[in-house]
Amino acid sequence: MMENLVYKSTRGHGDPVSASYAIVHGIAEDGGLFVPDHLPKMDKTLEELLTMDYRALAYEVMKLYLPDFSEDELHYCIDRAYDDKFDTSKIVPLSHPGETHVLELFHGATLAFKDMALSVLPYLMTTAAHKQNLEEEIVILTATSGDTGKAALEGFSNLSWGRIIVFYPKEGVSPIHKLQMVTQQGDNTHVVAIKGNFDDAQRSVKEIFTNPEEAVKMKNAGYMFSSANSINIGRLVPQIVYYYWGYLQMVRDQKVELGDSVNFCVPTGNFGNILAAHYAKSMGLPIGKLICASNSNNVLTDFFHTARYNSNRPFHITSSPSMDILVSSNLERLVYELCQGDGAKVQELMDSLRQRGSYILDLDPALLQEEFWADFADEEETAEAIRQMYTAYHYVMDPHTAVAYSVAEKYGKETGDARPMVIVSTASPYKFPASILAAIGVPAPKEEEALMEKLSEISDTTVPQRVRQVLGSQIRHHRVCEKDRVLAEVHDILGL
Ligand SMILES: *Cc1c(COP(=O)(O)O)cnc(C)c1O
Repeated sequence: MMENLVYKSTRGHGDPVSASYAIVHGIAEDGGLFVPDHLPKMDKTLEELLTMDYRALAYEVMKLYLPDFSEDELHYCIDRAYDDKFDTSKIVPLSHPGETHVLELFHGATLAFKDMALSVLPYLMTTAAHKQNLEEEIVILTATSGDTGKAALEGFSNLSWGRIIVFYPKEGVSPIHKLQMVTQQGDNTHVVAIKGNFDDAQRSVKEIFTNPEEAVKMKNAGYMFSSANSINIGRLVPQIVYYYWGYLQMVRDQKVELGDSVNFCVPTGNFGNILAAHYAKSMGLPIGKLICASNSNNVLTDFFHTARYNSNRPFHITSSPSMDILVSSNLERLVYELCQGDGAKVQELMDSLRQRGSYILDLDPALLQEEFWADFADEEETAEAIRQMYTAYHYVMDPHTAVAYSVAEKYGKETGDARPMVIVSTASPYKFPASILAAIGVPAPKEEEALMEKLSEISDTTVPQRVRQVLGSQIRHHRVCEKDRVLAEVHDILGL
């Protein structure tokens, strides 16, 4: 086993740390993100990988990034994560509507791609805490606008160890997201509505994380706070696996010959998903171009065209809410590579982002475009993509996937690149039935359940069991707090 891969902060301070340290702590002490000190190469051939199931493949990828986990430990985590919580034994199926290839990452417990990482993160964190001889009980604090909160609750509810507290804006999540969260089972799960918006929730949670007095108080009480959001490398590493899987599935379905390259188009928000694709490419997977697809919040499109990041722009609320982001946190990891690992430089750029909302990379945008191609789809184009795919192939895409499809079409037209393109699909259409029916032009019923039935009827697919369960479940979480009482709420939950 390769023992020498360690993690460093993107901002250059502190000693290198082990994978398990990086997972338990989530973020580096200097505020930077943990990155591997080098990107490993896959040590198996594609022929060898081709015969593996999802779990075996996950082991081959993840062991390279988590060298301080033993073989048994890693198998333990993977086997418990990728089991019958997923509604297909393939874990991630690849569909081929018409000439299109769609990698469906939404077959887990909460019907969103966050399940791919958040089903395994709780086990990685338990194992890592054990390796770090941590005596405190970990308390995961998460602010969410929907997908992350539910997927994290579901993941951590399976543990007999640790707790999770999720804060969501009372009026700022979709009905189905809210129901998914407030019906959550598990004695170690806590869900609190904040009388405020997502930014209030996010800010309050961040303040608790960076409050040194609070850390001491928690330690004395036997607790430690950690994070389940996508800055944790324990979320990034499991996402590399499905790029390998998607590629191998293209070969198995005889869409490409082993070794030929394939493009991927990724609907992007915080840049975690597409960064995992970039890591897969660096490991030797034959990926051609990575297409970075944004919605009207197109800050990344501009970044890849100009090498300038500028978040000073209007914030658009769209039909693909998980991509409504102006500060893409994981981009810092790519910027670190582009700065050749110069932590001081990254620190300077991130300071500029915090103070001015923007930064300028000192490089030719053509360099960025060797690997990435970026564009966006506005609301009308997104709806058009849903309508087109449905009319032509009777296949329904959620709005996030539709953004990717629309941008992939633009890429094909503009470049003439004939290599096969895999569209990365990040949410089940059953999470967004109203937007989809509106796009297709079908009158939409008001009630959530009737919406699902209508979608099922027009698409000849069945309403996922998980959604039915949620609609009929008892509400278990009733906590509501003022936006300036978040810390008090945490204390109350922990009995302090
Ligand atoms: C989180 C999310 C995204 C964005 O993924 P990033 O890793 O943040 O780029 C896209 N679609 C859905 C449905 C999501 O939940």
